[in-house]
Amino acid sequence: MSDPITDFPALQVRNLTKVYRGRGGAPDKTALKGINLEVKQGSFFGLLGPNGAGKSTLINIIAGLVNKTSGEVAVCGYDLERDMRHARSSVGVVPQELNLDAFFTPREVMEFQAGLYGVPRSKRRTDEILKAMGLSDKADGYARTLSGGMRRRLLVAKAMVHNPSVLILDEPTAGVDIELRQQLWSYVRKLNENGTTIILTTHYLEEAEELCDTIAIINHGEVVACEATEKLLGRLDMKNVSLQLASDIDAVPAHLTRFNTTLSHGRQLDISYRPSETAMAEILKAAADDGLDIVDLTTQEPDLEDAFLQMTARRE
Ligand code: ADP
Ligand code: MG
Repeated sequence: MSDPITDFPALQVRNLTKVYRGRGGAPDKTALKGINLEVKQGSFFGLLGPNGAGKSTLINIIAGLVNKTSGEVAVCGYDLERDMRHARSSVGVVPQELNLDAFFTPREVMEFQAGLYGVPRSKRRTDEILKAMGLSDKADGYARTLSGGMRRRLLVAKAMVHNPSVLILDEPTAGVDIELRQQLWSYVRKLNENGTTIILTTHYLEEAEELCDTIAIINHGEVVACEATEKLLGRLDMKNVSLQLASDIDAVPAHLTRFNTTLSHGRQLDISYRPSETAMAEILKAAADDGLDIVDLTTQEPDLEDAFLQMTARRE
């Protein structure tokens, strides 16, 4: 409900650290090791990383569910501590955990949340949001009767109640079937087109690649990459070429064994290589030296999955 302050980034995170204190003799766990991030207003931003990387910790700090250890966080220019009220009203968070009270109906959940955020009755959009989330016919059923996918969508609806300028979604499509995922994304996309900044974590890298203009990858509590999606992919030193042969062979032919080559279906050779080290011409020459009869050749550009693996493998 606060007006977005367009001069400020949607999210600014500076030197953010989080140490979970070990209880009962357990060692402390450093979940965030001094993270710096900036998300522009209007962005569709992906926050990716393997399990345990610290994504939910970061998001829960922004949501006010977890206390940071040190560092600063500002939403639309409002410091999370100094200007908590404005910061809170600027952001809606869909947490990873399905924490819903089983004895409320979706309509009650929405109305209660609207009350918490001081949304006047005339400005409430309960029906509109429930409809967009495909929950109209469940609006008056108890939350405990909702499926996992429906609860997830109710959490998204709840985060939208106060019309925040930044919407953060932590694994929103986990356990949601494909049709509903598409419905959710089309709604979120529309919000983004209308100016809402979207920050999301997801395990579906294809979705992130398709939706996000900018992607940060975090690993072991550190940001290991943060840039425009296209640039991130362009930086990858990895390509694949597939050769279709005219007839079956038994094994990878001699000259091609010095590359990373696999044989499948008897007549398909898949070769992955680093363009900085190997030229395609070398591969084709090796194939010619092997006397292969090639009927078709396809190349594959690297995708986000490759980027993800390359950038999170380094520090294992
Ligand atoms: P992600 O969402 O990227 O999977 P999390 O932020 O949930 O990662 O977790 C980051 C690290 O912090 C993990 O090692 C996790 O075990 C640890 N962690 C998360 N929550 C707690 C907690 N409440 N107490 C102790 N350690 C925690
Ligand atoms: Mg998580």
